[in-house]
Amino acid sequence: MVGVSGGIGSGKTTVTDMFAEYGIDVIDADVIARQVVEPGSLALNAIVEKFGPSIIQDDGHLNRQTLRATVFSDAALKTWLNNLLHPLIRVQMQEQTLAAGSSYCLLSVPLLVENNLTTLVNRVLIVDVSEVTQIERSVLRDKSNAEQIRAIMRAQASRAERLACADDVVNNEGSVRELRPQVEKLHAMYLRLSQGST
Ligand code: ATP
Repeated sequence: MVGVSGGIGSGKTTVTDMFAEYGIDVIDADVIARQVVEPGSLALNAIVEKFGPSIIQDDGHLNRQTLRATVFSDAALKTWLNNLLHPLIRVQMQEQTLAAGSSYCLLSVPLLVENNLTTLVNRVLIVDVSEVTQIERSVLRDKSNAEQIRAIMRAQASRAERLACADDVVNNEGSVRELRPQVEKLHAMYLRLSQGST
């Protein structure tokens, strides 16, 4: 199993979508993080008990933005939330990995390095871009301002910290077209390795 990570706006989804085109299963921690707090889940009930009913949107779903803002500046609340959600997310990731049918699979985890999850995977693939590009693309996509993106980046591992954990690196500083040959090469290598153990 290959863990894919990268900072905000680095291009993880763009890269994992390309692997998916080769029939490779992609397990996405962001998707799982939303699934474990779906309406009716035990985790959502626990969150409502802790933060009050105003943390729920009119449609019954968790207001993730409010929750994120609430825990951002409160370390104790953040720890409480992580202790609740991380084990649930981890179990789901493991279940989906076991259910994966492709020769190897990708586990896409934005905070792979920050949360010490590199031991869960056989290899770490980092999608790498400069900080300037990260900000530019994130601002364009999220319609947020550069300062908000910088604040998120400060809470994430630095580019150097991430690269220090990498077995493989995809450089996404150029165009999307330039990703293709890099992904193709890695896919061929992962297939070769999966004959062994990855
Ligand atoms: P996040 O973790 O913030 O959700 P991500 O790492 O999954 O982001 P993507 O969503 O793949 O990143 O890419 C971020 C934005 O940058 C998207 O709008 C995407 O279309 C764009 N993008 C990705 N790669 C490139 C590229 N090489 N050139 C131009 N735009 C790109």
